[in-house]
Parts: sequence; C-alpha cells; structure tokens
Amino acid sequence: MYDFAYHKPTTVADAVKILAADSDARPISGGQTLLPALKHRLNKPTSVVDLSGIAELRGIKRDGNKIVIGAMTRHADVANSAEVKAAIPMLAMLASGIGDPAVRNRGTIGGSVSNNDPAADYPSAVVALNATVVTSSRRIAADDFFQGMFTTAMEPGELLVAVEFPIPEKAGYAKMRNPASRYVMAGAFVAKTGGQVRVAINGAAACVFRQKDMEAALSANWSPAAVAGVKQAADDMNSDIHGSAEYRAHLVTVMAKRAVAAAG
Ligand SMILES: Cc1cc2nc3c(=O)[nH]c(=O)nc-3n(C[C@H](O)[C@H](O)[C@H](O)COP(=O)(O)OP(=O)(O)OC[C@H]3O[C@@H](n4cnc5c(N)ncnc54)[C@H](O)[C@@H]3O)c2cc1C
Repeated sequence: MYDFAYHKPTTVADAVKILAADSDARPISGGQTLLPALKHRLNKPTSVVDLSGIAELRGIKRDGNKIVIGAMTRHADVANSAEVKAAIPMLAMLASGIGDPAVRNRGTIGGSVSNNDPAADYPSAVVALNATVVTSSRRIAADDFFQGMFTTAMEPGELLVAVEFPIPEKAGYAKMRNPASRYVMAGAFVAKTGGQVRVAINGAAACVFRQKDMEAALSANWSPAAVAGVKQAADDMNSDIHGSAEYRAHLVTVMAKRAVAAAG
C-alpha cells in the first residue's frame, strides 16, 4: 500500500469539496473493491475520502411508488429491509445473494453501482427496474449510467448519493454464480413496470445490457416459454477460463427463463 491522506467528512457537501480540491482523491464506501486494489498497489490515490461518517447517505425509504436507497446502505441492510421485501422482493433477494456475509455486511449499493464491475449484481436491477441514479450534482437515468467495463457516466469528484427504484408490477432475477468467487457468470433481471418490460443481462458481457429481443417477446407473452426461443449471440460475450462466450450466451437464455419463472 502507498501512503495516502485520510478524510472522514460528515456531509456530502464536505466530501465533494475535498474531492474537488484533489483530482487524485478517491471516495471509499465498503472498501470491498478499493481496499484490495490499494493493498496490491493497483491504485495510488493521494487521499481517501471515507463516506461512512455521512449519515445522509445511509438508509432506505419508500417515497410514493419508489424505493430510495442511500449510497452507503450495505447489501445486508437491503437484503433484510422490510420496505424492500414488501415492495421489490427480488431486489432484497438479489442483495442477499451478493458474495458472502462479510462482503454483504461491508459492501454498499453506492460502491457497487459506482464500480460497475461487469460481474456485479446490482447493475442488472438498476437497468431492468429503470432506476434513477442520484449523484451529488444531477440525476442520471439507468440507460445512460452504465457506459462500459468499470465505467459510468459519473465524472471524477462526483458522488453517488442514492438510487431510486420504481416499484414494478413483476420482477425476477436469476444468476449462474462462479462457484469459487460467487461473482455472476451470467444473470438476468426481468421487470414489468407501468406495463413496460425490461430485461437486463449482467455478468455475460463487458457491461450490463438490455436484451431487447427478450423484452419484445415478454411484452407479447409474459412467460418463461416466450424467452426460451430467444437466443443471445455469442459475439460480444466474455470468454475466460471460467466459461466460453458460447456458454455465457447459452446461460443468458436459461437465466432469463428462470428469472421470468421467479417473477411469476
Ligand atoms: C470476495 C468478494 C466477493 C464478492 N462477490 C460479489 C458478488 O457476488 N456480487 C456483487 O455484486 N459484488 C460482489 N462483490 C463486490 C462487493 O459487493 C462490493 O459491493 C463492491 O466491491 C463495491 O462496493 P464497496 O462499497 O465495497 O465499494 P468500495 O470498494 O469502497 O469502492 C468501489 C469503487 O467505487 C468508488 N465509490 C465508492 N462509493 C462511491 C460513491 N458513493 N460515489 C462515487 N464513487 C464511489 C470507489 O472510489 C471505488 O473506485 C464481492 C467482493 C468480494 C471482496
């Protein structure tokens, strides 16, 4: 680990001020990704801005027909939230399946969504539920937020503050996990909100994406059988020691079928 300065602000405004003053400063939330990167000297920030002292970033509330989750809310809190379980049970289920208990009790939704790991769980829910990402300076639609592997629409120094999830009529999630790391090899989050169907695929490609052929099939007929015949092309799928592009493409259809069945 390289030396760095440590800041622990208590307001979003102060955190943004510190980040604006130093382009090499980095926010830290649960530290599940950033700390290992620091330990391995893969990242060399001049200072680390710990967001854990900012009370306004924590918590879950229902606001009309939306569930609003603060950036510093840990995965375990989403998994156990009565509000989330009542309104979007699949979101609680998704959070309960992230990593292991240690990861779920430290990792945060803000850190996960900001990081945009291709194998992360939350990005699929953000896209399929057509959520809005609220940052320290603006509101960003899910379709504009995730831009590529580990890349989002946020600018350096911009902080993710909350994610607003519209409450769907139906939602389902299924994933094939890597048995060693527990990260997603391919996953599908399907949702119907205000009559509109969205299908988001995670883990299979460099970045979460919408599977529009499946959306069309489910709009015509909401059933597992409707997506069973929709094949995912292997062209842009990830290929590594854990699975070939063809295997991941196959998993996309299988996971979508299971997600629709889970949604009911
Ligand atoms: C063993 C292991 C298994 C895991 N398995 C899974 C899994 O199955 N599924 C899954 O989805 N994830 C998994 N994870 C990742 C985990 O869920 C964390 O959520 C993820 O690492 C990032 O969240 P964090 O709060 O720890 O962020 P941090 O590590 O603190 O930060 C990650 C990045 O986001 C930036 N950042 C953090 N907060 C903000 C913010 N509010 N605004 C702007 N930028 C910010 C940081 O600067 C950093 O670049 C796993 C991690 C580990 C270590």
